[in-house]
Amino acid sequence: MNPIPYGRQNITEEDINEVINTLRSDYLTQGPKILEFEQAFAKYIGSQYAVAVANGTAALHLCTLALGVQPDDKVITTPITFAASANCVRYCGGEVIFSDIDPETYLLDINKVRSLLESSPSGHYKGIIPVDFAGRAVNLEAFKELADEFGLWLIEDACHAPGGYFLNLNGEKEFCGNGKYADLAIFSFHPVKHIACGEGGMITTNDEALYQQLLMLRSHGITRDKSSFANTSNFATGTSSDNYPGWYMEMQELGFNYRLTDIQAALGISQLKRADEGLKRRREIARVYHHAFKDDPNIIGQSGIIDGHAYHLYIIETENRLELYNYLRTKDIYAQIHYIPTHLMPYYKKMGWKEGDLIHAENYYKKCLSLPMYPTLTDEQQNYIIEVIKSFFSSYE
Ligand SMILES: *Cc1c(COP(=O)(O)O)cnc(C)c1O
Repeated sequence: MNPIPYGRQNITEEDINEVINTLRSDYLTQGPKILEFEQAFAKYIGSQYAVAVANGTAALHLCTLALGVQPDDKVITTPITFAASANCVRYCGGEVIFSDIDPETYLLDINKVRSLLESSPSGHYKGIIPVDFAGRAVNLEAFKELADEFGLWLIEDACHAPGGYFLNLNGEKEFCGNGKYADLAIFSFHPVKHIACGEGGMITTNDEALYQQLLMLRSHGITRDKSSFANTSNFATGTSSDNYPGWYMEMQELGFNYRLTDIQAALGISQLKRADEGLKRRREIARVYHHAFKDDPNIIGQSGIIDGHAYHLYIIETENRLELYNYLRTKDIYAQIHYIPTHLMPYYKKMGWKEGDLIHAENYYKKCLSLPMYPTLTDEQQNYIIEVIKSFFSSYE
């Protein structure tokens, strides 16, 4: 059997043809595929606007810029996520305040966030970055209520959860990134994520002003929109504001080049067409893992069957994690750990974070293991994985 990774992309002939067609077209970047991808993605997610960017990390950076994070602004996030969720605050000079997870859901514990907010003077914190970790949707309705009560903004890191949802108080599905609760939401199109562009990212929002600002920040802070020009005349021609020459543009803010290429967008559009199919398969795989391990005393926790879970990852928890991890590798199964708590990374330890600060996150990290989870994982491969895990525990007892 070939080595089985924890996640991998699924590229079809149709995807390849879409990329080739773009390579033969007039535009490799800044062309029609970007808007097409943005519109298709916004429709899929249920948001009003979408802005395609170079990667998920760039998406996060643009969000903290657009929301005006300033040096020393305090922003709350979870330690159980990819480091980028926190780093975007640091890019603007802000301070990251990690708050512990709920050991049942593995998500940022809203009660702990509330305690933080209640024990500080008003205005102490500026925003919260909840993460739909592993694909499990955060209850953003509850977070929005909390954020409003304390005057905070919300960035939803939905990298793991395109197509995921939670049920609101009326029992209706609220899809991750739909813009109803969070000010901004972000996605990644790295090959291990649900939709692959090679590298790529997306920001979704229902806020038109933020949308316009993100478009500008994505491309050097430059605008070509006459109605928003700040200079009232062009100094070379002396033309007035109602008659700017064709070349005229303005750099109004310090932006970046965080653009996606049309080549990547073409792949994204093609991949997006199969997103629901992939999600369905992920949920089937989750169901099989769940049933295989639910009565196994060696597996002391697992992602489980959760309505609306998008299953970027399927996680099990075991006391024998290191031994199991090593054993699986000898059997060509490359399980992974998600994540080493971000507050214990040397960079954040330099800022005073230390072991013992966030007990649930640290205990989770000692036991967690992400099993292979991707749409092209076959039944045969999954049965093999389950068999190997079972045989590990029977030999271990
Ligand atoms: C992948 C990921 C990111 C960063 O996305 P890139 O496209 O790799 O920059 C951010 N947050 C989470 C939760 C992720 O999984």
